[in-house]
Amino acid sequence: MAMLPNDVFQTELGHVAHTLLTPGPTPIHPDAVRALMRPMLGHMDREVFALNREIQADLRQMYGTAPDTFTALLAGTGSLGMEAGFANLVEPGDTVLVCANGSFGRRMAEMAARAGAQVRVVTAPLGEAIDPADVADQLDGAQLVAVVHGETSTGVLNPVPQIAELVRGSGALLTVDAVTTAGMEPFSMDAWGVDYVYTGAQKCLSAPPGLAPVAVSERAFERFFARRTPNPSWYSDFGGLRDYWVHQTYHHTVPVNLHFAFHAALRAALNEGLETRQRRVQQMGEAIFAALAPLGFSHYVPQPAARLPTVLALRLPEGLDDAGTRTRLRDRGISITGGLGPTAGLIWRLGLMGEAARPEPYRDLMVALQELLD
Ligand code: PLP
Repeated sequence: MAMLPNDVFQTELGHVAHTLLTPGPTPIHPDAVRALMRPMLGHMDREVFALNREIQADLRQMYGTAPDTFTALLAGTGSLGMEAGFANLVEPGDTVLVCANGSFGRRMAEMAARAGAQVRVVTAPLGEAIDPADVADQLDGAQLVAVVHGETSTGVLNPVPQIAELVRGSGALLTVDAVTTAGMEPFSMDAWGVDYVYTGAQKCLSAPPGLAPVAVSERAFERFFARRTPNPSWYSDFGGLRDYWVHQTYHHTVPVNLHFAFHAALRAALNEGLETRQRRVQQMGEAIFAALAPLGFSHYVPQPAARLPTVLALRLPEGLDDAGTRTRLRDRGISITGGLGPTAGLIWRLGLMGEAARPEPYRDLMVALQELLD
């Protein structure tokens, strides 16, 4: 079996190599694996604060925002990043417009409702992107608009720049879920006018799960400081996070070793170059599709512009045993993911984020599939 870069390291530790091609988590970047082995330091150590400042600067570069924008790592997964946005920026009775064309958009709507918002939902048929015209129709009176950039459940890329342009003139804040896009797809927080963005460390950056990198605009901070009611979430409170990340005072014990690993993974991404990574995922997606089309796979998302490059959603060939084939792949040390909810049994979702978007692991998959489907 071909080796992923970090498999070499893993086998040294006695583990069996594994080809992880799910839409997250992704194989951990070898630099991040090494960084995890660093001796532990305290969360208030000057070296950790210096590292945090580098992480903050690198996150600004990744999100496309100015040197004074607040960035931080939340100690939790992407869902904590999502929840923190609603907890900090929504007050009971606010109107929140959520673009929900898949599972993660629906999760946003659920969280906004739990934060006490009156939720308006803009939707689209499964496998299609949100139509900005539908957002325009429902925008009046909304205090916040929320949209998932890459809807992992269906492999759809939503038109965030067009939606942002509408929101900019409306007075509403804009929250974007960049969990499957940040670090691998173009993202311009300032140019687009995004007020709050988050991702998950385990996706396009190939760091271990457990951190949600966020960026918060000045406008979002103004809204936060003007709250009439306290933020119900103490843990993800923007003020508390600023205490630690800006003023270097204790808020909670950050997972220092995950910060080491995240720093290394993000540096590796920036050293490779964001545009190079965007080309890499595009080329990998095209090559994989060209190899799988003769076996009967077809694109699930009909509109090419709405296809999310980092999650290749493929309709299964007639008669293919979805669960059985994936189990036999897993027996050979290869993990891929099927559909979610209404797309279960209908599609496969192949992860092309971070270190998964490399030829070697996909060659393993092709060889195994050729044998299994013969
Ligand atoms: N948003 C999107 C688009 C996702 O794909 C995911 C996870 O797959 C999440 C949010 C939630 O992230 P996590 O599972 O890290 O909490």
